Amino acid sequence: MASYRIQLAVAIISSLLLLFPSTQGWGEDGHAIVCRIAQARLSSTAAAAVKKLLPEDAGNDLSSKCSWADHVRFIYTWSSALHFADTPEDACNFNNQRDCVDQANGRCVVAAIANYTNQLLDYGSVTKSKYNLTQALYFLSHFMGDIHQPLHCGFTTDRGGNDITVHWYKQKQNLHHIWDDSIIETEVERFYDSNMDDFVDAIQQNITKVWADQIEEWENCSSKDIPCPTIYASESVDDACKWAYKDAEEGSTLEDDYFLSRYPIVNLRLAQGGVRLAATLNRILDSQELQKSM
Ligand SMILES: [Zn+2]
Repeated sequence: MASYRIQLAVAIISSLLLLFPSTQGWGEDGHAIVCRIAQARLSSTAAAAVKKLLPEDAGNDLSSKCSWADHVRFIYTWSSALHFADTPEDACNFNNQRDCVDQANGRCVVAAIANYTNQLLDYGSVTKSKYNLTQALYFLSHFMGDIHQPLHCGFTTDRGGNDITVHWYKQKQNLHHIWDDSIIETEVERFYDSNMDDFVDAIQQNITKVWADQIEEWENCSSKDIPCPTIYASESVDDACKWAYKDAEEGSTLEDDYFLSRYPIVNLRLAQGGVRLAATLNRILDSQELQKSM
């Protein structure tokens, strides 16, 4: 009964969220893009495991569950702090001790990625896991997206840009939302005739052509870690300072100058999120891959 009530509450909140989109995390589109890129890069063993972990209603489409973590954040209130890792104002670097470990008992997106990776490592073990591995997959897939959104590693003082009000062309908007949704929306509308599939195709082509010689570096960690979220957070806070906050003060109007110089950063971060989610899932779910990385 309790689980039925939770499911009902999730369904009601999910439909409310469609009316009032969240300003926390890539929007639904950004998360779906990261998961589509990732699922297409899974090894056959990892792909089979993901298919098994997904419920029937997902139709073996990981992207359909990639915003689940946003939909449950008001029910699982403990999960709210797991979507970001903000830094002190103008720090422009990520310090795990300062920005994660000491914050709300080590709750931040960096620790969350490590935690759900560890939970998923139970997949395939002989004894039944004490964790809900389907939810671990949803959380990991979502947080791997969030950590690549620069303003998820923005400043605590303005809540990652949520408290900075600007104009996106003619529309009043907060800076965080512009990085979650508006840049992607404007890009898809202007360059891809509002066709999301064409946008995903274009990013995938860039992965195999423009960024081909960087993929190995994106996928691998210098240590034996399976993912290396402190690196991803460091890149994000660097981008937040260099690109997101720059020329975007309270009351600014952001138009083509801002959009045309920032959308390539958004594309790169979506691509890196997808490539790294795939590499992580391959390492976790494909024991042969795990052997290779040891
Ligand atoms: Zn999120």
